[in-house]
Amino acid sequence: MRILIALFVSTIFSFTAMADITVINNVTVLTMENDRIISPATVLIDGDRIIYVGESSQAPSTNDAATVIDGSGKYLIPGLTEMHGHLPFTSWSAVEQERILFLYLAGGVTTVRGMLGDPIQFVLRDKIAAGEIAGPMLYLAAPSLNGNTVASPAHGRELIRRYAGEGWDLQKIHPGLTRAEYDAIAEEANGLNFPFGGHVPAEVGLERAMDAGQASMDHMDGYLQMFDGGQREMTDEDFKTLIDMTKRSGTWVVPTQELFNLLIGGGDVDALSARPENRYITPEQLRRYRGRAEQANGNANRLAVENRQRLLKALADAGVNIALGSDAPQLFSVPGFSIWREIEVMKAAGLTDEQILNIGTQAPGKYFADKDSFGTISQGSRADLILLNANPYEGIEAVFDQAGVMAAGRWYSRQEIDARLDQIAEDVR
Ligand SMILES: [Zn+2]
Repeated sequence: MRILIALFVSTIFSFTAMADITVINNVTVLTMENDRIISPATVLIDGDRIIYVGESSQAPSTNDAATVIDGSGKYLIPGLTEMHGHLPFTSWSAVEQERILFLYLAGGVTTVRGMLGDPIQFVLRDKIAAGEIAGPMLYLAAPSLNGNTVASPAHGRELIRRYAGEGWDLQKIHPGLTRAEYDAIAEEANGLNFPFGGHVPAEVGLERAMDAGQASMDHMDGYLQMFDGGQREMTDEDFKTLIDMTKRSGTWVVPTQELFNLLIGGGDVDALSARPENRYITPEQLRRYRGRAEQANGNANRLAVENRQRLLKALADAGVNIALGSDAPQLFSVPGFSIWREIEVMKAAGLTDEQILNIGTQAPGKYFADKDSFGTISQGSRADLILLNANPYEGIEAVFDQAGVMAAGRWYSRQEIDARLDQIAEDVR
């Protein structure tokens, strides 16, 4: 009995005595653990963790020092993960480095899998964790292994040992590796339990990359190539083969569909140029983007894009591991906002609101389960949250209408985000 009382007292104490507790009240929580919705719900956040999520009537009381966010009429979802994002390089100015990290947050992206390593990213990750700068949680791919950076199979092994030792979260693979180099890299990485992912080098091919244990196939590299999908309409039989292979291997597909549809199939340059998020990039960047898009229009392959869209839908319906990635910043892909464009393209491919929301939240949580717990709204998870003004189950576009973002327990209100976005728009003019 005494132990029980002690436990009870210590629980109450931990909820009431800490000044940095945040409470989100009277909100509808889409937990993203199966289909569970709680309403009206209360969520308590202490530091970077969710310490309570449940019905408001059952919630423990907190003292006056807690920060209270009114969730009335609003919907709470886990933050989004950008699974193929690009992060600052040492050569950028501090202002540019911090700008891109903030843009991710401003779009509701609370986790980025950085897909091209630079040592400055470790420094930035520490500064974000310490609250010195605003940004998402970063998981970092090492500098790229490709035809130019790897001289031989032995050299590939040496680089894998070095990068694994330096503490990178995974190894980025780019085109140009020979089959022998790839095999050596894969064997060395597997031996060290060091995941590798990214492109599928042409000489390797999709089947071998899957057999070798590649963790993610980005851009759906190798998928169309296996069935000549640039030249002919792919069949359900082709899709079935690809689905079976992918499921058997357990690999992740990060389609970066919006970007690749544009690169392969072209797009309406004027409509692309009129996107509101272009106000966060420089006029010079916009000019470059226009030029590249016009180039893409010069040799557009609509058939390949149609195959990609149909394949994406087939993969999603079959329950393949898919994650949301936009390859920002690339062509008209402004960090944070490009994830919204990826969501739109997934919807156009026929994915349901539920499928897309899963792909954006709990799926990457599953991918990173060995690192931390996030991607669902549950006790003990990292407090990465988006407060929405509408219900995304009734239209995924609700994800674009954000009342605020919480990253690792730090709250950014709509007003704060807008003020900084206006400042960025001013700075880049
Ligand atoms: Zn990339």
